[in-house]
Amino acid sequence: MPRMAEPDSVGLEEIAGWLRAAQSVVVLTGAGISTESGIPDFRGPQGTWTKDPNAEKLSNLHYYMTDPEVRVASWQARLVHPAWTAEPNAGHRALAELERKGYVDTLVTQNIDGLHQKAGSSPDRVIEIHGTMREVVCMSCGERAPMQRALDRVRSGEADPPCRTCSGVLKSATISFGQSLVAEDLIRAEKAAQDCDVFLALGTMLTVYPVAYLPQRALEAGARLVIANAEQTPFDGQADAVLRGNLGDLLPGLVALV
Ligand code: NAD
Ligand code: ZN
Repeated sequence: MPRMAEPDSVGLEEIAGWLRAAQSVVVLTGAGISTESGIPDFRGPQGTWTKDPNAEKLSNLHYYMTDPEVRVASWQARLVHPAWTAEPNAGHRALAELERKGYVDTLVTQNIDGLHQKAGSSPDRVIEIHGTMREVVCMSCGERAPMQRALDRVRSGEADPPCRTCSGVLKSATISFGQSLVAEDLIRAEKAAQDCDVFLALGTMLTVYPVAYLPQRALEAGARLVIANAEQTPFDGQADAVLRGNLGDLLPGLVALV
């Protein structure tokens, strides 16, 4: 079967058929699944970095560790992060429904907002491959604590709260650029990608590695690759189906057919 690169040349009914026939479906989501919940992506047309290239420093481990001003700005950004009040959207809910129908083996998300779990996806099937913003971690002793406790300290005047145990630098438990992924999460995600029949890549530009190797793994193992994203990705030419549009519209329609 030739690879179909043309957007929307394969219809939802056909993709639903692939899902129904699959033994194992792996889903990868990126920031694009949460934009309809009011959380901007980084690199899309309305992205945080597209609008303010300087904001990229807040997600870079080197700047965070060496520049106290970056840490101060980062805590301030955390305080007002839209994820604290965001609700899951129709796209998140459709993926939870796909799991209830028995079709989701593993959901790998690059997002740190916790909205898949909030929408009803089982925490034990969700791999938060870039970590979570709901906890902080000490970069010296590794101690973890709830983010809200650290944010309370920021609100009470500690602009850059240090670790209470060892005075080390505290950071949100997210994977910054320049930081390694958690090895066991990556291994689990790679194994799932290798063993799946259908790999859905949703709302991600597929430009952040090593996560962008996952669809490649799936393809090499003979899986079908379905990409749904508002704009082009480097993997479109290798995909079996490419859908353009908003995930909040596309996913409920697809899942209803499965
Ligand atoms: P990205 O910002 O690089 O790309 C997101 C893609 O989604 C873009 O191509 C954009 O056009 C598309 N998109 C936006 N809204 C969409 C919609 N409603 N329907 C369909 N497509 C839509 O994001 P990325 O590839 O996920 O990688 C950036 C990194 O930033 C990731 O590591 C992620 O952890 C992090 N991030 C996370 C959040 C979050 O937790 N919600 C938000 C911003 C960035
Ligand atoms: Zn510490």
